[in-house]
Amino acid sequence: MLTRFAPSPTGYLHVGNIRTALICWLYTRSKNGKFFLRFDDTDIQRSDIKYIESIIEDLRWVGIDWDMQFKQSERFNLYDDVLLQLIKDGYIYECYETKEELEIKRKLQLKQGLPPTYDREALLLTKEKKSQYMQEGRKPHFRFMLNQDEPIKWNDEIKGKIDMKINSISDPVIKREDGNYTYMLPSVVDDIDFNITHIIRGEDHITNTAIQIQLIKALKAKIPVFAHLPLLHFADSKISKRVGGLDVKFIKESGIEPIALDSYLTKLGTSEQVESYIDMQALINSFGITKFSSASLQFNIDEVYKSNSKVLQKMPFEVVAERLSKEGIHSSEFWSFIRNNIGKFSDVIEWWHICQSDLECITTNLDCIPTNKELIQIASYTFPQDNFDQNTLQKWVNAIKQKTDIKTKELFRQLRLILTGKESGPELAKLLVFIGKENIITRLNKAVNAV
Ligand code: GLU
Repeated sequence: MLTRFAPSPTGYLHVGNIRTALICWLYTRSKNGKFFLRFDDTDIQRSDIKYIESIIEDLRWVGIDWDMQFKQSERFNLYDDVLLQLIKDGYIYECYETKEELEIKRKLQLKQGLPPTYDREALLLTKEKKSQYMQEGRKPHFRFMLNQDEPIKWNDEIKGKIDMKINSISDPVIKREDGNYTYMLPSVVDDIDFNITHIIRGEDHITNTAIQIQLIKALKAKIPVFAHLPLLHFADSKISKRVGGLDVKFIKESGIEPIALDSYLTKLGTSEQVESYIDMQALINSFGITKFSSASLQFNIDEVYKSNSKVLQKMPFEVVAERLSKEGIHSSEFWSFIRNNIGKFSDVIEWWHICQSDLECITTNLDCIPTNKELIQIASYTFPQDNFDQNTLQKWVNAIKQKTDIKTKELFRQLRLILTGKESGPELAKLLVFIGKENIITRLNKAVNAV
């Protein structure tokens, strides 16, 4: 099995592209196949190295690797050879209409109630007329002559049997008058040259597939297997207004673990629950192309956040040890405890600071605590200092409740505020252990002095 992911470097990758790349990659790796990265940069004006770099970075970030990488702009000579061959064989013909002329034709057809397809008038051009156009400075563009009578059929691995009629499609332009190739021919030439066996892409390419099947036949090559994935829709209108939905950069910056995004994207559109995998091999092992339905899909960012928390909960210390150590955190006990209470990795750092640093913020935060002077004083002198462990909180609460009739819930809230500066967070009894006896005493003293 040999597949390719073929982004056009004319913009940044969005989640829809990443999903296609992931599914293609997982499919290939699950079959021990090879996966190529091809940059469809035939549109020289719009393609940019910065997009190539960011696409590579994003693919690496989600955990995708590839066996080979190339750009279509390195292969123009080959496309020219094939173009000439197809012209010789009568499959491709030159046209001289300007954009304005085509637009006038189109409007006329619509007025007459006809489908606005190209009428192939260029086929009637004489040699003399063509050279007259050339002398006038017109440059030809080239179209591929579709066989409109031939129904095009294929067995799509996701959409099932497809039987398409293409009689309402214009002969597609293959090369423009400015000399730039459109996507259609280079893609076919590369897929043939590199022996691509499976093409997995978005369902917005279905019509292209029909055209490309005819091109492949004209080139007497083998038709690959096709799988067309339904496009993502965005429930949140703020997201869908961005071009293509959400770009990967945004997801990265939201603190999402790449594997959490992968876990979500590769279960979306299957009947399986989103499982939180912590490594790519587990995702590869669980992959099956037949699990994907062709029904339309809703992308839900909240599900990605949920997947993120679950992934973090499952991550063993060894997996995050290096990242933690960069933040000065070396305690596996702390990780094992805190990972159950975080939405994103950076929350660990925040909680570590809350536990370990000399928390100036707590005294500042006291301003917004509905402080209870009496409670703080009682809490301070009842704090049990012997046998300091996870049971300390309960002993402490019992001792405080003997001195005041504050409700338990409110008491917990107040203690949490005094000790962490926050209204909510991980289980306080366990958190106390990580804050440590000395820190607690210091914080209590600060609170006493502040009120
Ligand atoms: N460059 C095309 C795109 O980004 C590739 C489609 C294909 O996979 O053939 O949509």
